[in-house]
Amino acid sequence: MTGHGRVEHAPADRTADVLVVGAGPTGLLLAGDLATAGVRVTLLERREHAADTAMTRSFAVHARTLEVLDARGLADELVALGRKAPVIGVFGRIELRLHRLRSRFPFALITPQYHVERLLERRALAAGARIVRGAEVVRLRQDDDGVELETAGGDAWTARYAVGCDGVRSPVRGMVGIGFPGRSVVRSVMLADVRLARIPVDAVTTHSNAHGFASLVPFGDGWYRAIGWVAGDERPDDAPVAAEELSALLRRVLGSDYGMHDPRWISRFHSDERQAVRYREGRVLLAGDAAHVHSPAGGMGMNTGLQDAVNLGWKLAAVVQGRAGRTLLDSYERERHPVGRQALRVSGAITRGVLRSPRNGLVRALRGVGLPVANRLNSFTATGERLLSGVGIAYPAPRGCHPLVGRRAPDLRLSGGRRLYEELRDGRFVLVARGRPVPETEWLRLVAPAGSLTGPLLIRPDGHIAWAADAPDPEGLRAALGRWPVAAGTGAGAPAARG
Ligand SMILES: Cc1cc2nc3c(=O)[nH]c(=O)nc-3n(C[C@H](O)[C@H](O)[C@H](O)COP(=O)(O)OP(=O)(O)OC[C@H]3O[C@@H](n4cnc5c(N)ncnc54)[C@H](O)[C@@H]3O)c2cc1C
Repeated sequence: MTGHGRVEHAPADRTADVLVVGAGPTGLLLAGDLATAGVRVTLLERREHAADTAMTRSFAVHARTLEVLDARGLADELVALGRKAPVIGVFGRIELRLHRLRSRFPFALITPQYHVERLLERRALAAGARIVRGAEVVRLRQDDDGVELETAGGDAWTARYAVGCDGVRSPVRGMVGIGFPGRSVVRSVMLADVRLARIPVDAVTTHSNAHGFASLVPFGDGWYRAIGWVAGDERPDDAPVAAEELSALLRRVLGSDYGMHDPRWISRFHSDERQAVRYREGRVLLAGDAAHVHSPAGGMGMNTGLQDAVNLGWKLAAVVQGRAGRTLLDSYERERHPVGRQALRVSGAITRGVLRSPRNGLVRALRGVGLPVANRLNSFTATGERLLSGVGIAYPAPRGCHPLVGRRAPDLRLSGGRRLYEELRDGRFVLVARGRPVPETEWLRLVAPAGSLTGPLLIRPDGHIAWAADAPDPEGLRAALGRWPVAAGTGAGAPAARG
C-alpha cells in the first residue's frame, strides 16, 4: 500500500483484509506494519478524537521498544521528545543500571504515551492504513471465510481477519468468548498531573517506606505525574482524592512534595493482573491490554503491547498475502503468551513487594521473579535490567537448532556504514552473510556484515533470529528459507490458497 491513509468518519467502502479494533498504541503500530507490508488495513476506533494530552497513562518507553521503533525509523524522533533515565531506582535500595544494556538505547525514555501514539498514527497513515473514528464495534461474527464486525451506528464491516487491540475491557475478547482470568492486585493508587515549585534531581524520583509508595515522573513539558499509595489503603476508585492527601504522602515518603501545585487531573485507580487464556480464536486475534494487563509498576504494559504488534504484524501479512499458511499465526500465541505472563509476574512482584509490604519489599520481589534471596543483588539487577528493558526476551526455538535462534538480534554494524535495524525498516527478512549466497527477493534483503561475524544470520522482520550457522552453510540456509515466508507463495508450509 502506498502512503495515502486517511482518518475518516463514515466511509462507504467497509471492506478490508484486516480490521484492527482500537487505535491505542498497539493498534496503531499493528496497522502501520500491516499497511507497510501492503495489506489493506482499517482501524476502527470508538473515540472521535486522537490521544488526549491531559490523560496520558504510560510514560516509560523501554530499550527493546525503542529498538523496534528504530526498525521503523521512529526512535530518534521519539528520543528527542523525552528524557533519558539511564538508572532506575527500585525499593529505594537498589538501582537498575540500564546504561549497562548492550543496546543503542541504554536507558528508559520518559515521555508521555500520546507522543508515542502520535508518531505511530502518522506512520500508519503514511503507509496507507485507514483510521475510522467514532466507530464503536458492538458485534462480531466469523466463519471459515472471514469476519464481520458491526459498529454502533449499524454499519457492517467485513475482512479476512480482525485483531482486538481494544484495551483492557476488550469487547472483541468478550464477543469471541476468550476468558480473562485474574484479580485486582492493588486498590486506591492516587494519580495526578501536577506542577512542581522545585525540580527533583533524578529523572524519576521513586521511594517506598512504611507509609507507602510515591513517585514523581517528568513529562518533559513542565508537568509531572505524581503517583502515591498509602500503606493499607483499600478505598474504591470513586472515593474522592484531595491534592493535599497526595502531597502529604509525598512528604512522608520522598521527604518533600517539591512544592506540588495546580493539579490538572487527579484520580484514584486500582490495578488488575489478568491474561487472556488464548490470543486467537479462529480469524480473530488479541494484542496489547486486550490480551494482558498488570500493574503499571515497571512500566511494561504499553511496551509489551507494542511488541505483541511487532510479532503479529509480519505473520498476519504473510498469511493474508498467501506467503504462509495459517499455522504461522499459532506461533504468535506460542511466543507472546509466555512474554505476557512474565510481564504479569515481574510487575506483580514489584507491586506486591513495594506496595503491600514496603518494609521487606526487596525480599518479596526477589522471590516473585524466581530468584533466591541469597542471590547477590547484582544478579537481581542484571536480571531486572534485561526483563524490564525487554532486551532479554527470546522466543522458544525448535530442539537442536543453533543457540542464537529465537534471540533478539543486536544492532549489527554492516558494510557501507549501515546498521541492521536500518535494514529492517521495510518489513523484510534480512540475511546477514558474506557474498550473495541466494538471490534477494521481495521479502528478503541481503546485507554483508562489517565486522568479524563469520557465520550467516537470518533475521525475522521483528528483529529476532530465525536461523544461524557458525560458518557458511548453503544447504542449511536453503532449508531455512523454505521454512520462512521470504518469497511470494513460499515458506512456512505455504498454502495453495490464501489464509
Ligand atoms: C496509570 C498507568 C500508568 C501506566 N504506565 C505505563 C508505563 O509507564 N509504561 C507502559 O509500557 N505502560 C504503562 N501503562 C499501561 C499502558 O497505558 C497500556 O498498556 C496501553 O495503553 C495499552 O495500549 P493498547 O493499545 O493495548 O490499549 P489502549 O491504549 O487501552 O487502547 C484501546 C483502544 O481501543 C478503543 N476501543 C475500546 N473498545 C472499542 C470498541 N468496541 N470499538 C472500537 N474501539 C474501541 C479505545 O477507545 C482505545 O482507544 C500504564 C497504565 C496506567 C493505568
